[in-house]
Formats: sequence, C-alpha cells, structure tokens
Amino acid sequence: MAEITVMREEFLPPRQPPRRHLISIRDLSRDDVERLLGTARSFERSLEREVKKLPTLRGRTVVNLFFESSTRTSSSFELAAKRLSADTMSVKASGSSVDKGESLKDTALTLGAYDPDVIVIRHPHIGAPDLVARLTDAHVVNAGDGKHQHPTQALLDLYTINAEFGRVDGLHVAIVGDVLHSRVARSNIQAFTLMGARVTLVGPPALIPRGIEALGCEVTIDIDAIKAADVVYVLRMQRERMQEGANYVPSLREYTARWGVTPERLRAGQKVMHPGPMNRGVEIDPRVADAQDALIETQVRAGLVVRMAVLYDLLTHGPVAVAAAPAMTPLEVA
Ligand code: ASP
Repeated sequence: MAEITVMREEFLPPRQPPRRHLISIRDLSRDDVERLLGTARSFERSLEREVKKLPTLRGRTVVNLFFESSTRTSSSFELAAKRLSADTMSVKASGSSVDKGESLKDTALTLGAYDPDVIVIRHPHIGAPDLVARLTDAHVVNAGDGKHQHPTQALLDLYTINAEFGRVDGLHVAIVGDVLHSRVARSNIQAFTLMGARVTLVGPPALIPRGIEALGCEVTIDIDAIKAADVVYVLRMQRERMQEGANYVPSLREYTARWGVTPERLRAGQKVMHPGPMNRGVEIDPRVADAQDALIETQVRAGLVVRMAVLYDLLTHGPVAVAAAPAMTPLEVA
C-alpha cells in the first residue's frame, strides 16, 4: 500500500506569494518593510569593504526608464544594480524615441523584448508603472509616478529615521509644504503610519488635499506646530506640477515668510529631512539645510543600500503571478 507522508509545512497556513512589483507603499506589510530595511543594513555593512561589488545579481538585467528628471533616484538605482553585478541599461525620455512620439506602451514593449528582469520606471502619469507591469514580464519598481507614489523614497526615509533614532514607532514627524503635488508625501504618510509614527501635515490650505486626514495623519496650517515634532520633513514646492494660473499661495516670497523652515522655527536637536532637490531659500533656509541636524546627505546614502535591497528582494524571491494592481483611493491621488 502506498505510504502517505504528511509534511509539517502542510499544517502551516498558506503563505502570501512574494510581491512581484513595488508600485506603492500600500503593497507592503510591516514585515515586508522590516525585511527590506534589514537587507539594506546588511548591504550597508558590505559596502564598508574595499571591494564593493557583490556577485548577487550576476546575469540579471535592470532597465532604468526615466520620463522625468532625476539625479538621486536614477543614479542610485543604477549604482545599486551595478554593486550587485547586474547588467544595467538606462533610457531617458529625452533623446529616446519618446521624443519622436513613441507611446509608453510601445517603449515598454520594445524594452520588454530584451527580457529585462527589472524595469525601474519614473513617469509623470499616475499608473504608468502598472501599465508596464501588465505589458512586460519584468519586475517593475515605481521610481515616481506623477503625484501618486515614490515607494523607494519612503523606504530610504524610514531607513534614515531608524538609523538616527533606533526606531520609527512612537516618533512624531511633521511633513511641511506642498503636499498636494507630492508623491513623496503620499508614500511617506503611508509608510510612517504603517511603522507606528504620528504624522502631522503643515502648510497652506490650498496645498493640503482636502480629507487627507483619512490616511491617518493630522493637518494644521500653523507652522509653529513643527516644534512639537521629532523630525521635520520639508517638501519641495513642485512648481512643475502646479496648474498654470492657479494661485496656491499669493507668492513664493509669502510662502517662505509663512511656511519656510528656518532655524528660528525649529527647536534645538530637531532632525530635518528633505527628499531633494531643494529650493534653498524657498521651503528651506540654507542654514537649516547645512546644519548638523539635517539628515539630507544621510538620506542620499540610504537611497543606495535601500534600492539594492529592493532589487535583491524582488529578484531573489523569483517570479510569481503578477499581483493585480490595487485600485487607488481618490485620496491617494487627490
Ligand atoms: N525627488 C522627489 C521626487 O521625485 C521629490 C521632488 O522632486 O521634490 O518626487
């Protein structure tokens, strides 16, 4: 008679299949974030060695497809892939066939024909990474889609805060400025609250989306509220996303006078962050940007190891069925 063997694993509840793409912070659980930050920490230790290249992703191909300007995100993804020994290819919209009117669909199909393992995409339109995920077999990483999401920025910000304070849980973060046009703000509100931090948004009423409190944060127009926070996270005034003719603030000078982050508005020892690029003298006073308590350079360094961790995490769990893109709530794009 055939022997039936019951394996121990069969008694365990079925595990969630690993994520195939990183499109939004909403795709991640607290455990996912902790695993990614742990992996980033081990990569940070590996970078202390004289030879910084690891063989981990040898033979894999990472395509960076950037339809919007970028310095930090594009360079760190490229270096991250190289440090892991992957082959990299960088395509920028200007100078590519996008200039000749090629659609995102055709660009994605063209690059998909080379069978890349990962496509990192930045695009001005919300949902562009989901489209690429549907059209190609690659793992897709969202490097910023319009004002919707920038999940690797949120992960590197968590990494930076955790390295500074030893925790995120229980901290108070004030996010100041142009929340309305900021994908960083949307990703960070979700990431910080997921990890147990309290978040207060501060800025002019026209630059704070109505009803955003539903994401689990508080809102105030009073700049003095930043004094109560452990971390003051300054956002760039995103002029390129502002509708022409719309008066979000009377003038930039007025904005700076009422909401600019200056040394006088901070308490000693408060940590200051900014995703870059900074508009010095607009949303952030140069004395704040260059002070000891600014973590801005630490954020840039964290970007490299966190993006190494994201590439490693997606590729070492192997491809699984494409996860359906979750529907966006109106607040996520408001
Ligand atoms: N670099 C960030 C982004 O791409 C922030 C900014 O541009 O202000 O969203």
